[in-house]
Amino acid sequence: MTNAQDLAKRAYTVQIIEIAPAFLLRSTDQRPATGDFVTMATKPSNSLFREAKHSATRNTRFEQNTCISFEPSFDSQSTSLPKECDMEKLSLAVKMMLEAVGEDVNRPGLLDTPSRVARMYRELLYGTGVDAATEITCLFEEGNEDPVIVKNIPFTTVCEHHLVPFIGKADVAYIPKDGRITGLSKLARVVEVTARRLQVQERMTAQIADAIMTALEPQGALVILKAEHLCMSMRGVKKPGSLTTTMAARGLLKEDREARREIMDLIAH
Ligand SMILES: [Zn+2]
Repeated sequence: MTNAQDLAKRAYTVQIIEIAPAFLLRSTDQRPATGDFVTMATKPSNSLFREAKHSATRNTRFEQNTCISFEPSFDSQSTSLPKECDMEKLSLAVKMMLEAVGEDVNRPGLLDTPSRVARMYRELLYGTGVDAATEITCLFEEGNEDPVIVKNIPFTTVCEHHLVPFIGKADVAYIPKDGRITGLSKLARVVEVTARRLQVQERMTAQIADAIMTALEPQGALVILKAEHLCMSMRGVKKPGSLTTTMAARGLLKEDREARREIMDLIAH
């Protein structure tokens, strides 16, 4: 079986019923509209589409130059943000928090704070419920089976225990299988969308590795996260500058110590 047939067999056909407001469609040769049937390399998540129909069977219409890419909007003024986010409730919660600590919520400096904080959290958490694997929408066949490593991808996410950020960098590596690779920016997008939800560092590391395994089916994947947790720096044990490192290894890079060491060596240099 050729790679093209292999890819086609893995493709999903979906009918677009509704395009989620959180996402804008971009850089497509064929810009799909509601009612269209489109074929994708990875299974779209429910947050992107409500699927009327999908099948994992071979679909000969699949070509890599008709793949579709989805970019979430960062613009807090935009209307294309998740409608699941109840802005009124969020603003009210911030207002109640201010009252609870004894603030005068009507003093000029605080008047707009509840709605401003609500907009900020909507932006910080837009990836809630989004399947990170769907960020890897473009697959290319390059006949390449050598490791691909992207280092120092910066991220900011929110600790689910304290609702303050932890900030760090991600190193992401995978070894392609059957020449399947993705655009390097897609790896950064996986980190980004995984960061835009309430997190603990260990789970975030695993989610990035699992998304790559699901979407690319590589021989192996390795993800290393280093982050400073503000909940440790600014309160509690107050140890600014301390870094937490987490690692997730999958496939060959979990099983084969030598292969893992080689990749970790490349990441370190
Ligand atoms: Zn915390």
